[in-house]
Amino acid sequence: MSGTVEQFEGGCLCGAVRFVTTGEPKGVYWCHCQSCRKHTGAPVSVFVAFDCDTYRVTKGEISKFDSTPGQTRRGFCARCGSTLTCESLPGPTITHFHVGAFDQAVRLRPTRQYFSEERLPWLHIAEA
Ligand SMILES: [Zn+2]
Ligand SMILES: [Zn+2]
Repeated sequence: MSGTVEQFEGGCLCGAVRFVTTGEPKGVYWCHCQSCRKHTGAPVSVFVAFDCDTYRVTKGEISKFDSTPGQTRRGFCARCGSTLTCESLPGPTITHFHVGAFDQAVRLRPTRQYFSEERLPWLHIAEA
């Protein structure tokens, strides 16, 4: 490793799960889809994507639930319930982390929006 790539550390609310990234974020984006809304309980989600080989779980483990079998796998902390990840199946090759799980979420600013057609009409956010 060159040591020039910024690392991001994160974890769940209770601290049972911790992880650290070792590669460049592949992108940061809003997701307005209803499945994310159900999983998080929040009106919208913001994700940051990392290649699966550019992060590692350093404490505990991310529990998984296939919200759409064969297509979408979601990760969370089994102890405190924090929503943590979303992955596309088969694979996955990329893990999308909920940006709020990172200690330095302030440095991960979204630049795109997905599933805008499912956006709650009363939700107004600045255009990326
Ligand atoms: Zn937890
Ligand atoms: Zn979504």
